[in-house]
Amino acid sequence: MFIRRRRAKLVKTLLSRVVRFLAVPRDNPELVKAQFEVFSRQVPLMYAIVLVNAWAIAFLFLSIAPLWLTVDMAAAFTAVCIVRLSFWWRSRHVSPTPEEARAALIRTNQFGAVLSVTITMWALTLAGYGNEELNGNIAFFMAITGVSVVVCLLHLRSAAFIVGLSIAIPFIVFFTMMATPSSIAMAVNMLFVTTSLLIIVAVQSRHFADAIDARTKLEQANRENMRLANRDSLTGLNNRRRFFAYLNDIHQEARARGQHFAVGIVDLDGFKPVNDLYGHAVGDALLMEVGKRLSALAGNDIQVARLGGDEFALIFLDYRNDTDLLERSEALCVAMREPIVLADVTVRITASIGLAAFPQTAGDANDLYERADYALYNGKRSRRGHATLFSNEHLEQIARSTQLEQVLRDADLDEEISVFFQPIADIRSGKVVAFEALARWTSPVLGAVSPALFIPVAERAGLIDRLTRILLKKALVTALGWPEDVRLSFNLSTHDISSSEGLTRIVGILSSSGIEPARVDFEITETAMMYDFERAKAAIETLRQMGCGIALDDFGTGYSSLTQIHALPLTKIKIDRSFVCGIDKSPASYKIVKSLLSLSHDMGLGCVIEGVETKAEMQTLERLGARLIQGFHFSRPVPEADIAALLGGRTMESVAG
Ligand code: C2E
Ligand code: CA
Ligand code: CA
Repeated sequence: MFIRRRRAKLVKTLLSRVVRFLAVPRDNPELVKAQFEVFSRQVPLMYAIVLVNAWAIAFLFLSIAPLWLTVDMAAAFTAVCIVRLSFWWRSRHVSPTPEEARAALIRTNQFGAVLSVTITMWALTLAGYGNEELNGNIAFFMAITGVSVVVCLLHLRSAAFIVGLSIAIPFIVFFTMMATPSSIAMAVNMLFVTTSLLIIVAVQSRHFADAIDARTKLEQANRENMRLANRDSLTGLNNRRRFFAYLNDIHQEARARGQHFAVGIVDLDGFKPVNDLYGHAVGDALLMEVGKRLSALAGNDIQVARLGGDEFALIFLDYRNDTDLLERSEALCVAMREPIVLADVTVRITASIGLAAFPQTAGDANDLYERADYALYNGKRSRRGHATLFSNEHLEQIARSTQLEQVLRDADLDEEISVFFQPIADIRSGKVVAFEALARWTSPVLGAVSPALFIPVAERAGLIDRLTRILLKKALVTALGWPEDVRLSFNLSTHDISSSEGLTRIVGILSSSGIEPARVDFEITETAMMYDFERAKAAIETLRQMGCGIALDDFGTGYSSLTQIHALPLTKIKIDRSFVCGIDKSPASYKIVKSLLSLSHDMGLGCVIEGVETKAEMQTLERLGARLIQGFHFSRPVPEADIAALLGGRTMESVAG
């Protein structure tokens, strides 16, 4: 009983294995598709072989078998094969889904079984009419047809086995039963050939399946790599690379179809301090939250990407007009202002957005991006935390600075550039302790141009190196005439401290000037340092080692974090004039300046207060304990000739004399 059940079970599993072996694979769509592709290419050849052989047999038996068994049957096979071929012909360029491919292969199996059984039966029926020689022919044609078809079906194991067995089994039975020595020899031969062939099919189809499997895995790995290469690992948003690829695609599409779209660049205000103060883990969590908020509000109409750092980018696909675009962007800014709760801190940041629309703003994808960037940095100056759309006004600004750049390039800098000096005074003694050198440009073409305009242009145009050299030489020559206790304060720009050649030249000029380096302060802004912090730090250290002082200019306007200030060997900070303006009336400014003063005191740094314009402001500052002030109240920047008056006649010559 037990043995019988075991045997039944064994038979069942064996049977199900055979069925699986002969069936189209169910769980491997890639393999099925590949089988379909390879097989489709063999279809015409396979039917051609079948038909040629069928007609050959029909002609051989034309005179001895009835007509319906010869020509009619061959014609019927031809008709059926033509119908099958026409199906194939129509679908030859269509790439089927895995389900369609599977269905087609199952049909091939079924059709293959029916056709080969029918042809075999037909041939064996004809054999009844022939003599030994003709039967030899039949055997030959059947064997050749069988072998060729199986070879055509090499990658389609199920069909190859079905066809092979449907031909070989009746053949072997039939010729064995004829019991002549030659028929038995043929049956044995067929048995041998069919077995060998099917073993080859089994092995080949395994190899084929393995190769397809390997290809599928490779494709999957490639797809995954592609996905990772296009994704920002922190936020899961599209990354910079994907953004630009997408921007190009959208631009081409919009151009071809006459559609509009807009690019937005989002920059977080106040991210840096959060990152420095609470650490990178909190910074990362903040960026993830920003990514989530942007995506949530963006929906399908706006594509969001992270370009790097705290910069994100948007592509607006569907909006009505500029007003709508600005409203949607403002909504994003509003969402960013909501407090962000992270682990154990709650932080608040704002986001500014710069926008540029196609086709109004720029026709080129790259220009569009750059104009959005321009709008962003322009907006950040006056409308921080809001969206700014690139406008005609921006365009005029750009045109002006392009013109400025052109004139500056052609200028005779040695001749046209001069230095003015603004005194820095000690509130208590009322005496000048230093002069800040300020660049002046009088262009024969444009007249007097403010350094606030031409210095940024010179930086962008790569002219700042020359300019700094000229200015420093002139300033040092002038300072040589001052009493020993009057210092010179000189402004350096980003490029001066982020290139080693620039720094080497500055050091060279200073060394050969004849002025004690300890009498010189270099003023550096935070933005100049943020560009390449490590380099800037190294440059500052070099200057410090020479004995120069280093003042952090415009303090309070950037994102200076205490960690960074600590990391630098500063000697002074200069509190920006925006905090001083109306300090006698504004409690907020009062508080800020008070805390900045005590901060500088605690850190052992000197503190200059810039932009003091009125007596009231000066008195308030005096009460706060400020010592060094600079501003129109004391004196405007003056040419070299007016310095002696400010020093009360205390020039080098007068001291000596
Ligand atoms: P800064 O370094 O902050 O220089 C101070 C600016 O404030 C000067 O403007 C000065 O004239 C102005 N100022 C001084 N006191 C008062 C005041 O009481 N009220 C007001 N409203 N303004 C006051 P200036 O000379 O137009 O220079 C503007 C900026 O251009 C400078 O800002 C500095 O960033 C840059 N700059 C000027 N000269 C040079 C230079 O030689 N090299 C570099 N790299 N930058 C320079
Ligand atoms: Ca300055
Ligand atoms: Ca300043």
